[in-house]
Amino acid sequence: MNVHESEKLAGVLESKGYSVATSVEEADVIVFNTCAIRESAEQKIMGNIGALKSMKARHKDKIIAICGCMSQEEGMPEKLKAKFPFIDIIFGTLNIEDFAELLDKRVKEKKSIIQIASKSNIKKRDSMHVYRTSGVNAWVNIMYGCNNFCTYCIVPYVRGREISRDIEVIVKEVAELVGLGYKQITLLGQNVNSYGNDIDDPSVNFANLLRRIDAIDGQFWVRFMSSHPKDISHEVIDVIANSKHICHGLHLPVQSGSNEILRKMNRHYTREKYFSIIDYARKKIPDIEFTTDIIVGFPGETKQDYNDTLDLVQKVGYQNIFAFMYSRRTGTVADKMSDQIPINIKRKRIKKLLDLERDIASDISEKYVGKVLKVLVEDVSPKAEGVMIGSLNSGKAVSFYGDKSLQGRFVDIKITKSKLTTLFGELDKK
Ligand code: SAM
Ligand code: SF4
Repeated sequence: MNVHESEKLAGVLESKGYSVATSVEEADVIVFNTCAIRESAEQKIMGNIGALKSMKARHKDKIIAICGCMSQEEGMPEKLKAKFPFIDIIFGTLNIEDFAELLDKRVKEKKSIIQIASKSNIKKRDSMHVYRTSGVNAWVNIMYGCNNFCTYCIVPYVRGREISRDIEVIVKEVAELVGLGYKQITLLGQNVNSYGNDIDDPSVNFANLLRRIDAIDGQFWVRFMSSHPKDISHEVIDVIANSKHICHGLHLPVQSGSNEILRKMNRHYTREKYFSIIDYARKKIPDIEFTTDIIVGFPGETKQDYNDTLDLVQKVGYQNIFAFMYSRRTGTVADKMSDQIPINIKRKRIKKLLDLERDIASDISEKYVGKVLKVLVEDVSPKAEGVMIGSLNSGKAVSFYGDKSLQGRFVDIKITKSKLTTLFGELDKK
């Protein structure tokens, strides 16, 4: 989501004649698109902004702008301005579409601006030029905001309520991207399964959106994230099973394996319901692989709760997990819970969870060795010369010897070796 929003901000700059600078020193405009999901993200941003102080003092015309989730937090723009008086523009997640005007105003009036909106202008946002930076990958928002208020999460406070984009606009955008040669389209929303709930037409829903996108001609893959387990329907799984383009890798964030913690998180499903989704998806799509998000050390998480999470991870057998230590976020319900878990316990728990996942992921990788599989070639490897990286339909990463001319092509790769989550292979000559 943030990568894609940065592409929109870069699109504004490109439309105004700016080009990408090779260093911060050389840049005329520096935009921080911030994240507020965990405290560590905020601390990092603070450090990065602070580091620009002396440079800004030497080059007063350099424009420094801050936007994103952190600037949308209540009281944060004032706090940022007090801490870093040299910031030129502060705007929020709900008015990124105003960036062009804010920039013009700052250049003309030479005064700093704080402008945080409480409502987005989706039509204006839809017409923003996007400077796409992700090679064969293109991101497409299908909705903005979140209605779920999981008790640990700051997103609903900084991104507002759910707003679904017009289905025709989305389908047209995807068709254009496919026409331009993008091979992997990722549909974005905090909970894609509730797409259309705010639109007064029952036919506008996620299953139908997937059907419409799947009917587009061309050679491309479609992914989506994130899918809330409380809302994913059998219909959506059936659509994936019968589709040509929708990938067989499903990101289904579980957060915890304990029913008591899931209740305290306000997630509205149980581990039994979660297992039933996994079982249904495996029955309909035998080669499906799952990834997930997990939080350890949520307030009140007992040893037994944590063991339930380990047990769930073991039983599902995830291809990959994104694990986080619970981080207190001001204004959320969980921040006020009394039984906060000490950091040393959180550290131990995340380490053991990641160790377990490493073993599971290695076993899953092993089963691919010797097979010939279709791979979308994404980019040159940043690690070794003459090596390309790509992904399987399930989303698993594959490295193989090859040259840049293969980028954006679907090729057959014989998997020769596996290491943790990554596979290694060679072009199949047959
Ligand atoms: N909307 C997505 C969903 O419901 O799965 C998640 C979006 S959030 C940006 C990504 C992940 O960050 C969440 O799935 C959760 O695991 C994690 N997260 C959110 N708030 C957190 C917090 N306060 N502490 C630690 N991790 C958090
Ligand atoms: Fe946060 Fe829950 Fe919304 Fe995801 S669904 S963004 S975790 S509140």
